[in-house]
Amino acid sequence: MSDQLQAFFSPESVAVVGASRNVRGLGHTVLKNIIDFGYKGRIYPVNPNADSVLDLKCYPNLSSIPDKVDVVVVVVPAPVVVPTIKEAVEKGIKGAVIITAGFREVGPEGLAAEREIVRIAREGGMRILGPNILGVIDAQARFNATFAAAKPEEGAIAFVSQSGALLTAVLDWAVREQVGFSKIVSLGNKADISEIDLFRALEDDPETRVIVAYLEGVTNGDEFRKAAKELTKKKPLVVVKSGGTAAGSRAVSSHTGSLAGSDAAYDAAFKQTGILRAPTMQDLFDVSLAFAYQPLPKGKRLAIVTNAGGPGILATDACERKGLQLATFDPETIAKLREGLPSTANVYNPIDVIGDAAADRYELAIECAMADPNVDALLVLLTPQTMTEIEKTAEITVRAAQRGIKPVLASFMGGHAVEEGIRILKEGRVPNYAFPERAVEALVAMNRYRDWTEAPEEEPVAIKVDREAAAAVIKQAREAGRNSLGDLEARGVMEAYGLRLPGNKLATSPEEAVAFAREIGYPVVMKIVSPDILHKSDIGGVKVGLQNDAEVENAYHTIRGNALRYMPEAEIWGVSVQEMIKPGREVILGVTYDSQFGHLIMFGLGGIYVEVLKDVAFRLAPLTRREAEAMIREIRTFPLLAGVRGQQPADLDAVIDALLRVSQLVTDFPEIIELDVNPLVVNPVGGGATAVDARIILAGGEQKPHH
Ligand code: ADP
Ligand code: MG
Repeated sequence: MSDQLQAFFSPESVAVVGASRNVRGLGHTVLKNIIDFGYKGRIYPVNPNADSVLDLKCYPNLSSIPDKVDVVVVVVPAPVVVPTIKEAVEKGIKGAVIITAGFREVGPEGLAAEREIVRIAREGGMRILGPNILGVIDAQARFNATFAAAKPEEGAIAFVSQSGALLTAVLDWAVREQVGFSKIVSLGNKADISEIDLFRALEDDPETRVIVAYLEGVTNGDEFRKAAKELTKKKPLVVVKSGGTAAGSRAVSSHTGSLAGSDAAYDAAFKQTGILRAPTMQDLFDVSLAFAYQPLPKGKRLAIVTNAGGPGILATDACERKGLQLATFDPETIAKLREGLPSTANVYNPIDVIGDAAADRYELAIECAMADPNVDALLVLLTPQTMTEIEKTAEITVRAAQRGIKPVLASFMGGHAVEEGIRILKEGRVPNYAFPERAVEALVAMNRYRDWTEAPEEEPVAIKVDREAAAAVIKQAREAGRNSLGDLEARGVMEAYGLRLPGNKLATSPEEAVAFAREIGYPVVMKIVSPDILHKSDIGGVKVGLQNDAEVENAYHTIRGNALRYMPEAEIWGVSVQEMIKPGREVILGVTYDSQFGHLIMFGLGGIYVEVLKDVAFRLAPLTRREAEAMIREIRTFPLLAGVRGQQPADLDAVIDALLRVSQLVTDFPEIIELDVNPLVVNPVGGGATAVDARIILAGGEQKPHH
């Protein structure tokens, strides 16, 4: 851990500015917590109106403290914080925990004060945690500089939270649940220290095995991704993310824009950096307990031991739904189980030791499952029946887990009857879940994390493209005062980036249209070309399957007429005559720009249902090949692409290639803030994919490039 941040966790000395005698004051509570938690360093209360607080000598100000101070905890009213920080810098203090609220969160004046604090601190080489926080706890160092009442146990979970109130609740819950922590950090307004600093600090913290975070937003998208990726290579990071982002506020006009809620970028960022996203706080702790207490499973094969059929089935179902496998036991295991268990027992997975089982049957089943080389993880289920030896079974489970070879999770179901058993499990560091599905969920997360750590590093693909040609098209549109490129112009860009396009010619008369159609070859497609018309078929601006000269001539008039009826003053460039592409699966590739994370790429099945079904996948640019492939496989309707009922599979390689080219395009041209290829028509394997319609929107004013 960097020395700078180390000071916040295990300082050799701490000053509490605003340590009051009033037992109800925050300053009093903070000081009391530092003392009561067993802090071994020197403590200096600062209060000009008291000689002593809680039997400690009081100092009128920081400069009157005779010794070196590592960290200062600030609990004075907001207006006094700036002068306090100045004084702290003069004293040479390296870290300030500013608990005081009333800054950015209350308005512009508060924000100005907050900025001033950061400015003073930066100049003086001091780091700031907060303001507006609960504080910080290091359980190992027995340092609790918070106003939280609960005293957390020591453990392997580091908890970083953007909400102080939530922390208080979690702390209280954790004490009852015997959940231990290494470090607990309240981020508050993140004026200086952010989650990114903490990710870096906790990466090598020997006390921390898993990092859990509650975040409402991130400070810097790129830095966040970098730090998270570094961290997740070493330790699991589980995040609950709530709240929206500013990205959602910009009006959007494309399909992708309407589908990419502000959350999509976060979701993509998490997936691409190995962060495990927990939908709820409950999931957050379900998962982190497993990481904190148990080794990672080597594979997905789970053994289940139960004394009742129902829970076994629940666990099996969850297993299948979530992509885990039920282990198939060795014949030797089955023989041993058959020998030791009653004939009514099920010796296959899930092993059912039957309702009247005492602890000895559990012991045999657990031993056999743990010894079987086809088993990667064990789940022990228990329902309290008359004969059940709950505590003894808990002890046996703990003993099996303590070998530390394979993860062991438990679900002792019930309430009062299983209470003592669960206590034994918890003390023995076996995570227990109220119901089997939750245990399975935790194992799924462990497997996902193992997959992430084992996946080889992969760089975004660099494809040879004609960047200048694309730049020329964009420049031309800009010079014409437009920032929206319709199909015709977008084609120029797409072509430069190597996407396959249908043959196309712009006709400005029916005669020309017929000539072009003959040249291209029947059948053809015709489309209105107008910078004022975005959705062409909506207004009768697209005709497909035109077979002969007469149809083309007709279509020319109809399309023009429809366009002018829709918008009499529309600027019409003509009607394009286009090669008719062999039917295939229609997919959509899209891009939006997220203010925090940059370009967000979307993939989904195209056609009219895309907006209704919202069956789309997102990743941030630039894409790696594996990420592009994962996007395609992620949508629910993937089987339609892979081929169902004797259908030939679609050319997925061509889709991946198109995604990578689009990714490179927006990475090369950050000013592209929206892009739709809708549809990309994908033919069966080997047939490639054709972009029959594309649209590009450029940033309106001056836009700072993200990449
Ligand atoms: P818009 O999206 O503006 O309404 P498109 O150019 O996407 O217009 O055309 C609408 C639909 O017509 C497409 O989704 C596709 O099914 C079909 N289509 C368009 N161009 C072609 C083509 N060249 N070959 C085959 N089908 C096409
Ligand atoms: Mg279209």
